[in-house]
Amino acid sequence: MMQERHILGISGGRDSAALAVYMRQHRPELPIEYFFTDTGKELPEVYTFLDRLEGFLGKPIKRLNPDRDFDFWLDEYGNFLPSPRTRWCTRQLKLRPLEHWIKPALEAGTIIHSYVAIRSDEPTREGYQATHENMLVHLPLREAGIDRAGVIELLQQADVGEPEYYSWRSRSGCTFCFFQQKIEWVRLAAHHPDEFEKAIAYEKTALEGGSPFTWSQGESLTELIEPKRVEAIELDYERRVARLKKRRPKNPLAAETDDTIDDIYGVDEAAGGCVICHK
Ligand code: SF4
Repeated sequence: MMQERHILGISGGRDSAALAVYMRQHRPELPIEYFFTDTGKELPEVYTFLDRLEGFLGKPIKRLNPDRDFDFWLDEYGNFLPSPRTRWCTRQLKLRPLEHWIKPALEAGTIIHSYVAIRSDEPTREGYQATHENMLVHLPLREAGIDRAGVIELLQQADVGEPEYYSWRSRSGCTFCFFQQKIEWVRLAAHHPDEFEKAIAYEKTALEGGSPFTWSQGESLTELIEPKRVEAIELDYERRVARLKKRRPKNPLAAETDDTIDDIYGVDEAAGGCVICHK
C-alpha cells in the first residue's frame, strides 16, 4: 500500500504557527508531523513561542538540527557572511536538514504532503517548491482566504498569541539575518546586546578574511551602532511611520493591525524574505 506522510514546517513566525493552528482545528484527523529547522542562531523568543505552540498542538514540534553548524559553513564559505546574493545560510542550515529528513521516505515511494504558510494576501508568493515528484505542496491559508489579519485572529483565538520579538522586529529568522532593516539591528542591540556583540565579532572576522559583505548594507555594525548613526536611523524610522500613517486610507470597517517594519520600508515580502525562514 502506498504510504503517505504530512509535514508542516514551523519557522518561529506567525504565519506558519497560524497554519498549524488552522490544520489542528480543521484537519485534526491528519497525522501531521510538525518540524522546525534550528540553525543554532535563533532568537530566544523563538523557543518560548515554539513551547507555547506545542502546548496548543498537543504534540512535539520536531527539531531538525543541521549536521554542520553556522561556524562550519562560514569557514567553508571562506568567511563570507551570507547575503541576498550568496545565501548559503538558507541552503545549508534550513533546506539541507529538511531534505536529509525526508529524502529516504521520498525515495522509498512515500507521498509527502507539505503544508506551506502562504496567505491569501500574498498572491505572488509561491513558497517552497517541491523538488521531488512524490512531494505535494498545499497552501491551506491561501485556499481558505486567510490574510494577515486572519492569521493574527487565529493565533489570538487559540490563545497562542504571537512571538514576543514582534514588538521590536518584523520577522522570524536567525538572530543575525541580513534581511533585517537597520532599525532592527539597533533594536537587536537593545534587546540582546550579547547577540549583537556576537554579530559584530562575526563581521570583523569576515571583513578581515576578505569578505565584501557586511551584515547591513553599506556599513559595518560598529559604524551602525555609533550614537549619532543610531539617532539618524531612529529618526528616519519615525518619519517613515508618520508618512505611512498619513498615506493609508482610513477604513472604519477594517481591523486595526500594527504596521510592520516591512510595511514601513515597503519591503516586497516575496523578494525580501523566504518562506523557509520567515513564515
Ligand atoms: S533567516 Fe536570514 S540568515 Fe537565517 S537562514 Fe534565513 S536568510 Fe539566512
